[in-house]
Amino acid sequence: MTTSQQTPYAVTTGDLAFLAGLTTVHTDRPTLQAHARDSSRAVPQGLPAAVVVPASVEEVAETLKWANDHGVPVSVRGAGTGLSGGAVAYRGGIVVSLAALTRLDIDAENLTATVGAGVVTSHLDDAARPYGLMYAPDPVSSEWSTIGGNIATNAGGPRCLAHGVTADVVMALEVVLADGRIVRTGSRTVKNSTGYNLTGLFVGSEGTLGIITEAVVRLDPRPAGHPVAFAAAFSDLGDAGRAVAAVLSRCPRPESLELMDSNTIGLVAQHFPDEDTPAGAAVIVGEYADPHAAEYASALLAVCRQHDAETVTGPRAENLLRTRKRVNPALSASGLTASCDVAVPITRLADILGKIESLSQAFGMQVNTFAHAGDGNLHPAVVVPNGDERALEIAEDLLGAITQAALAMGGVISGEHGIGSLKLHHLDAQYDPATRSLQREIKALLDPHAILTPGRAV
Ligand SMILES: Cc1cc2nc3c(=O)[nH]c(=O)nc-3n(C[C@H](O)[C@H](O)[C@H](O)COP(=O)(O)OP(=O)(O)OC[C@H]3O[C@@H](n4cnc5c(N)ncnc54)[C@H](O)[C@@H]3O)c2cc1C
Repeated sequence: MTTSQQTPYAVTTGDLAFLAGLTTVHTDRPTLQAHARDSSRAVPQGLPAAVVVPASVEEVAETLKWANDHGVPVSVRGAGTGLSGGAVAYRGGIVVSLAALTRLDIDAENLTATVGAGVVTSHLDDAARPYGLMYAPDPVSSEWSTIGGNIATNAGGPRCLAHGVTADVVMALEVVLADGRIVRTGSRTVKNSTGYNLTGLFVGSEGTLGIITEAVVRLDPRPAGHPVAFAAAFSDLGDAGRAVAAVLSRCPRPESLELMDSNTIGLVAQHFPDEDTPAGAAVIVGEYADPHAAEYASALLAVCRQHDAETVTGPRAENLLRTRKRVNPALSASGLTASCDVAVPITRLADILGKIESLSQAFGMQVNTFAHAGDGNLHPAVVVPNGDERALEIAEDLLGAITQAALAMGGVISGEHGIGSLKLHHLDAQYDPATRSLQREIKALLDPHAILTPGRAV
């Protein structure tokens, strides 16, 4: 039996033939290459031996049983949009893709959906729409990411401010453990005080404790009323952060409340020449979707003006919401992006924004900061010229310093992207040794041979 520390078992052609008798197996180089990386800067050590695409929970179970018996490292894959290196393939291991698990049943009367792990996030939301319902968590990647990946990373998104993150809407899970056992956690009931909250254990477990094959999720009534966008430009980053905290304590909660600093807006404008570029250090932008939306937006902007903002409504605010959606495409078009996703208590938002600015100057690197500001979740991003290893090293150090600063403010390493392989070295700084040991003991209990996403996330 091997573990991730030992020489991995070499998968033979006989093994592949055996696997092909259980499930769909791909071994052609283009498919292996297409499944080797996620959307982060993490680089795989080599190609996997096979990509396996099970069509049922039983096929997932048979595959894991085989991998467990042989000590073959398994990476678990939704759509590969992850930004932490969690789904990156292991050299000589297998990739289990959940792409074929696409069951999607809406139970409108109970406000729930039963959904296969491979369902694309926006497809679930689209399916709920005709019933006047929505699947609230809306990662900006929702047109590509999968429900399984969202659950495994506890994904967030702009409207999670109003409706909660993925963990808040997952009611029950079907999970295959490393040895092939199938377990079912949680319930379809609104309330459930029956035993340990095992659903919560698997949410955010990043493919390390089991493979999520199906989930029951909560649907919410789709907000009534025409959405009203608002925006406010600040000449000082600290004022923007303080305004966000004030808005959240004094105004009705908006659907979304995002922030972009001037570097980010400038970067978007480089790639989208029609872009509006308001003067100042930062813009906050969001919307209300409520019958009282216009009244609420006006109250929110009044609070922003008390923090010296120039405020905007109407089409110009809607354009700035569009600018926020263009940040990721602009970053992708600019080169290799090194980023992190720290989160801080909302009253420390101004402090972390100021710290990022001073660290950017100290390291001599431009940081483009955008944020799910209402959640205190920031994405400072550095664009590194392709192939410039030295610049990448400095960028990693800069992101590490931002992470340490967030922790010192009572924050966390990751607000929504997870730890994966890229942030593992920070974990000891967030958790005390006893807590770290408990995490490792849970991993060892559920995956004693360390075949599932070994060496990552925990
Ligand atoms: C342009 C862009 C915008 C993004 N915006 C957001 C955002 O707003 N909010 C946000 O939270 N994230 C965002 N992300 C990150 C990413 O989309 C999320 O982390 C998403 O949840 C990953 O889903 P996926 O299906 O692509 O999972 P993958 O990338 O395939 O996997 C992610 C992790 O989950 C594990 N995993 C996947 N499926 C399963 C399963 N069925 N069972 C067990 N483990 C599994 C993998 O092993 C890996 O560790 C963004 C990414 C991009 C590229």
